[in-house]
Amino acid sequence: MIGVLIVTLTALILGTILVLTDLLINKKDNNEEEFLKRLPGYNCGSCGYGSCNGMAKEMLKNIEAYKKCRPLRGEKLKEMEEYVEKLK
Ligand code: SF4
Repeated sequence: MIGVLIVTLTALILGTILVLTDLLINKKDNNEEEFLKRLPGYNCGSCGYGSCNGMAKEMLKNIEAYKKCRPLRGEKLKEMEEYVEKLK
């Protein structure tokens, strides 16, 4: 009886950890996609991250990195600033 209880509790704890980990990973992926949508997409590399994909990945660590993107101007820049502000 106690063995069943221990196995059930262990499964419940591991299941909870898996769900929370998945939620965190998916949130990170979603943010990366959202950053990428708001970048110019020129892949010029002048930001130092090699491509817009590289920049989007860098923004997961340093959300202010988009400021190194010189081609990001006007309406796109405004969209990025508004999106970043919501995440703060
Ligand atoms: S500078 Fe901007 S447009 Fe150029 S690769 Fe970096 S993020 Fe993309």
